Amino acid sequence: MRPLKVIVDQASLRHNLAIVKQLAPKSKIMSVVKANGYGHGLINVAQGLSESDGFAVLALNEAIDLREHGFEQDILLLEGAFESYEISIAAKMRFNLVVHNLHQLQMIEKLKLNHPIDIHFKINTGMNRLGFNPNEAKEILKTLQNKTHFKSITLMTHFATADEPKGVDWQLTVFNDIAKHFNFSHSVANSASIVNFKKTHLDWVRPGIMLYGASPIMGQKSSLLNIKPVMQLKSKIIAIQNLSKNDSVGYGETFKAKNDMRIAVVACGYADGYPRHAPTGTPVYVEGEKTLTVGRVSMDMLYIDVTNIPQASISSDVELWGEHIPVDEVAEKAGTVGYELLCAISASKRVPIEIIHG
Ligand SMILES: *Cc1c(COP(=O)(O)O)cnc(C)c1O
Repeated sequence: MRPLKVIVDQASLRHNLAIVKQLAPKSKIMSVVKANGYGHGLINVAQGLSESDGFAVLALNEAIDLREHGFEQDILLLEGAFESYEISIAAKMRFNLVVHNLHQLQMIEKLKLNHPIDIHFKINTGMNRLGFNPNEAKEILKTLQNKTHFKSITLMTHFATADEPKGVDWQLTVFNDIAKHFNFSHSVANSASIVNFKKTHLDWVRPGIMLYGASPIMGQKSSLLNIKPVMQLKSKIIAIQNLSKNDSVGYGETFKAKNDMRIAVVACGYADGYPRHAPTGTPVYVEGEKTLTVGRVSMDMLYIDVTNIPQASISSDVELWGEHIPVDEVAEKAGTVGYELLCAISASKRVPIEIIHG
């Protein structure tokens, strides 16, 4: 069997959840497990995060999957219902729905629901992705207060710059100006906001990336937050090539040896989700040593420099990211963020996941 695999450590998930609890002790925690648990496997992750007060997912089938695996917590559908039939199922299975526009609201109000529904009413405070216009939100909310369709209403928004110098005040002010007129619960903070802004720790917080041990803040090491990587991407060396000066490696001859070199070929490529844009010099870990990639990443393989690692040979273990190589370091080299790399591995659907239960 091809040696490439992902190892998911549930104890690290528990550890990272405990860090969120320390940071926001008064808030309920809605762990965000969309995109197949940020690539780690939805149920693997939910088990590791079983102490969460709620889970947030994207699609109805993910919510059903969680219920069927015995998770009794609140489950929020982050984009709400796309079609009317989903609302009845959500009501029956006690899923919370985001409602972010009038179209969704009208779909709900048209139905005769046997079970009133919990909604997260989303306000667009400046990101301009999802949510009601703040100038209209107050009037619409007033009309919802005495409707029997709704069991509870939570006010929600999402920040665009919680990880940047601009911060969250410009959005939080808009949110609070509406929220102060009602006696609803509030949910605003993603990971960056949990780390950076205590004042955003309201009734709920919604951590995602930090639960997986990657940094929510570009340029800030995850180890500084005391969070642990959950995913290890591991493979093995499958070939060794000895290069003379001026020999090249891989497609396009993008790398040429300046001296004699020993190069190892690793079973992992862009079809697995490893970023093709990772340039020569991307960190990797082999036989207890850090080294660097060389040449262009192929579909199924990549190359690493083992000139100074004589113990590296065929079948040596390689860590592409995980305990020794933060996914954020690989992401930064490839011009992206840890989020994308974690998700890409599971989107490729060809890397098996091994779980360390804990
Ligand atoms: C994905 C998402 C989060 C979690 O964001 P992180 O940056 O991963 O912490 C929180 N809220 C909403 C609405 C999201 O879509």
